Amino acid sequence: MKKNSVSLNATKNSLLLALAKGVCPLCTLVRAFQNELIERLQPNGAAIVCNYHAWAIAGSAPAVSVAEVFLAMLRGANSSEIGRERMDCDLCWLIREHEFTRLQEFVREMQHGRFAEWVEQYGTLCRYHGTALDSMLPPEHARIISKVMDNNRQQLEELLESFASKARSGGHAGGGILGRAAEFLVAQRGLMR
Ligand SMILES: [Zn+2]
Ligand SMILES: [Zn+2]
Repeated sequence: MKKNSVSLNATKNSLLLALAKGVCPLCTLVRAFQNELIERLQPNGAAIVCNYHAWAIAGSAPAVSVAEVFLAMLRGANSSEIGRERMDCDLCWLIREHEFTRLQEFVREMQHGRFAEWVEQYGTLCRYHGTALDSMLPPEHARIISKVMDNNRQQLEELLESFASKARSGGHAGGGILGRAAEFLVAQRGLMR
């Protein structure tokens, strides 16, 4: 599928830039936000983290900043704060908030004919974000999203069938399709659901 045969006015709008990549734009933007959040995390920046984010922080750099972040957590800098409303992961919470803003942005953009047309013809969406958009959009735009998800799913089915039949006869090429299928089913790697 050609992704760039219609030129988008992808100036400073990162949603348009993400859309032009041929993968789910919401996944791309949320993952970029998550990476930035982890890279720039300050001591006391998060008091409670989930398993996934603790290990993502442990694997980030530079080690001295990571040590300071963990020291602050161990010393319970913020965790004993009276009146703390949430006991879930601070990063998951910030990411969900960002994700919702991006979904709303997509919903707004769908009101522009060219954007909606481009999505309809060339768009890729994972099932998670497609379903979220579907529930936020008015029927005429939700119809486009359903169509995009159907197309994505059909294309994946065809590619997986041909990969499976080649694999049965000993071929190993084309394994990238497995990752694409995982992305479609549960969003890009490393996004908490
Ligand atoms: Zn997605
Ligand atoms: Zn988390």
